[in-house]
Amino acid sequence: MSEQTVTTYNCDYCSRKLPDDYRTTNGQGKSYYVKKAHDTVPLKTPVSGCTGFVVEVTLGTPKDDHHFTDLCDTCRLKFLKMAVEHLEAKVAAEAEEQEGADNEGEEADV
Ligand SMILES: [Zn+2]
Repeated sequence: MSEQTVTTYNCDYCSRKLPDDYRTTNGQGKSYYVKKAHDTVPLKTPVSGCTGFVVEVTLGTPKDDHHFTDLCDTCRLKFLKMAVEHLEAKVAAEAEEQEGADNEGEEADV
């Protein structure tokens, strides 16, 4: 019986094992992780005919020495929440700014 090597993939950040669902092997028997499938969020109700969207969560910027690209769901959720908070604050600040600009305009008209 030949010994089979099973490659497992772990979260770059917390080392938790990533789900086996997206582990696959190519024609040469080389194992790899289908990150795009792992990153895909299915949509129950299609948007503009699209049935899912891809959310790539990568910790680190091009300036950083390290990139954490393969993340487990727990880490992805943690960093996504931070991203959502950042975007919400940004959008809220922009909306406020817009409102302020509108009010100034009204005041100028008086
Ligand atoms: Zn993790």
